[in-house]
Amino acid sequence: MRTAIATVCLSGTFPEKIEAIAAAQFKGVEIFENDLLSFNGTPADARRMIEGLGLETITFQPFRDFEGMPEPQRSKVFARAERKFDVMQELGCDLLMVCSNVSPDSLGGIERAAADFHELGERAAKRGLRVAFEALSWGRHIHDYRDSWEVVRRASHPAVGLVLDSFHVLARGTDLSAIRSIPSEKIFLVQMADAPRLDMDYLSWSRHYRCFPGQGDLPIDAFMDALGATGFDGLISLEIFNDRFRAGSARSVATDGQRSLIVMLDELRQRTGAALPDHPVLPPKAICSGIEFVEFAVDERSAAGFEQTLSGLGFQKAGRHRSKAVTRWRQGDINIVVNADKEGFAHSFNITHGTSVCALALRVDDAQGAINRATTLLDQPFQQPVGPGETNIPAVRGLGGSLLYFVDRKSGLDRLWEVDFDPVATDDFSGAGLRSVDHVSQSMHYEEMLTWLLFYASLLDVRKTPVQTVIDPGGVVQSQAIETHDGSLRLILNASQSQRTLSSRFLNELFGSGVQHIALVTDDIFRTVQSLKENGVDLLPIPENYYDDLEVRIDLSVDDVERLRQANILYDREEENEYFQVYTKTLVGGFFFEIVERRNYKGYGAANAPIRLASQTRLASEAVPSGL
Ligand code: MG
Ligand code: MG
Repeated sequence: MRTAIATVCLSGTFPEKIEAIAAAQFKGVEIFENDLLSFNGTPADARRMIEGLGLETITFQPFRDFEGMPEPQRSKVFARAERKFDVMQELGCDLLMVCSNVSPDSLGGIERAAADFHELGERAAKRGLRVAFEALSWGRHIHDYRDSWEVVRRASHPAVGLVLDSFHVLARGTDLSAIRSIPSEKIFLVQMADAPRLDMDYLSWSRHYRCFPGQGDLPIDAFMDALGATGFDGLISLEIFNDRFRAGSARSVATDGQRSLIVMLDELRQRTGAALPDHPVLPPKAICSGIEFVEFAVDERSAAGFEQTLSGLGFQKAGRHRSKAVTRWRQGDINIVVNADKEGFAHSFNITHGTSVCALALRVDDAQGAINRATTLLDQPFQQPVGPGETNIPAVRGLGGSLLYFVDRKSGLDRLWEVDFDPVATDDFSGAGLRSVDHVSQSMHYEEMLTWLLFYASLLDVRKTPVQTVIDPGGVVQSQAIETHDGSLRLILNASQSQRTLSSRFLNELFGSGVQHIALVTDDIFRTVQSLKENGVDLLPIPENYYDDLEVRIDLSVDDVERLRQANILYDREEENEYFQVYTKTLVGGFFFEIVERRNYKGYGAANAPIRLASQTRLASEAVPSGL
């Protein structure tokens, strides 16, 4: 198959779009007419630019409101088509995409539409051009691919073919089996788009919420399987209308598009055994079994305060790096690396972002395999010099320029603590009962959220949960979890369009996207809270009203509620499964820790999030940050 992307997917001027498409290693481009109209040059200039970047224009689109017109409009649409053919010839493009008519003037009837297409095919063929017909899901008479195919079949012209657009097909839930019997050579173009499941009219859904395959909820696999069954080996092009893409970075979105196609076609190959020789074979998704360490970039001045916070949380200094100003803090299965070195990545990260999480290390089955997969997916591998004999941990660039490391047992990377660190002798230390990392919550720009969803979901063997809407006192926050099937890795992506939410204010404080909080697991939250209090850790106060409501909302005894109230613990329940949450006050830089106890509970306490956000907002307006 030959892959392409439509200019309409991206932000920027026409030349910026074309450059971004070439940079993302596409070979084909679908020119959306409006992009050409706004270009300050002739179609021949556009052609020179496109071909100069090694691209080919595979389609010119859309040609609207064509079929079924009564006279005198009918003559006019044919005249209009001839003008577009002129442009296409100058542009060096041989395929015009015609979408089904939405005009109230248009007349129905498959035979009438077929006759119009036959004539259009005749005119196109005279110039060595072709036309392809797409059923818009909101087309006036034709909105089902089975009808557009019937039009193309009856038009019976070699220059007339079909467009299958996955959004239009899947949004209406149209049965896919008829695709399998369409002769593949009559499918001139396949347009790919996914979308989140939304209950809205097709036009608005399509124009604002389309996304790349894998970013949404539509059954793209079933569509591709049906297409694969035809033996299709033609043009497959991403056609995404998305408000976030239009506001995002053209280069980053184009790369996401390429990444989504690499994954989609590799998965098709795995499911069906299709050869697809022109498309990269991906190493398997990384199987992740938890977080090996979280690394904080600190400077000399803030290191002591940060380490004091860690001590308060029950962490113990367990190791000192052999050659760098880096320490390992440990509790249960949790490792926190405090990097105050004056050289290297963490240092530059700290200069820009202040005290913050500069890296996460994932425990995976095969670290080199993870890097190989990442590289094939066009992620950015990262390397920096390591001292002689020290562990070289493979990494890729992650959110906000931070790093994502991969540690495995297979290649001995899990021995990094023995190899790179001198143990620090400590007193017998019981800690605060914290056992492991429960989840890592990352805040990002709204336009980036689908990028990072795809980044994680394409690299790791994880599933995504439906997007949740959380109410912050300053606006609405979108929140989406990505988790392994056993819950050993849970990442929460948060983004908001409002500048006044805690999530957005965190981005401003951090000068970028990053980890806003880390939740740590305890098996006894009351004991942990007690330890924290004894250690002088400030916890986020929760309003009395919350507990009054809890008493009536959830069937808890007065004594149980009193215990929660005393400890500032938030509580949620799903059937018999319980969840307990407590938060530290916000530290410098807007970061905070959460402590959770799960009793078979699977979610993240969404019902409690507005309470927590309101308390944090109130505190932020009252006082300077504590801790650090
Ligand atoms: Mg389309
Ligand atoms: Mg949380």
